[in-house]
Formats: sequence, structure tokens, C-alpha cells
Amino acid sequence: MMNNANRSIGCTVTQCEYHCGNENYCTLDKINVGTHEQNPTNVQCTDCESFKANNCK
Ligand code: SF4
Repeated sequence: MMNNANRSIGCTVTQCEYHCGNENYCTLDKINVGTHEQNPTNVQCTDCESFKANNCK
């Protein structure tokens, strides 16, 4: 579990390898956000493309 929270990137995806763990922040310096839709219309259309599954949690 990583502790170096980046307070500029809030995140609640605790299943991600890069989640801070004890606080709702990402630990990366930078993330990439994209979409899986041709014409995104709401928040569900967007994705954190830096996500990496943490199979140890
Ligand atoms: S990489 Fe994306 S999904 Fe993973 S902790 Fe950071 S912001 Fe959240």
C-alpha cells in the first residue's frame, strides 16, 4: 500500500494499484482520463486510463 497521496487527484477506486489506501487520493503524479464512448454525455462515459487492478487487496 502506497502512502504518497497526490492531493490534486482525488479517487475512491480502492481496487486500483495506485490508490493511496487510507485516504481517497491517487498516488501517481499524473493520470490519463479518457472515454470509451464516441460522444461522451455524462460522467459514466469517462475512464481513468491509468487504472491498474490490484489483485492483492
Ligand atoms: S490510477 Fe486512476 S483509478 Fe487508479 S488510483 Fe489513480 S486516479 Fe484512481
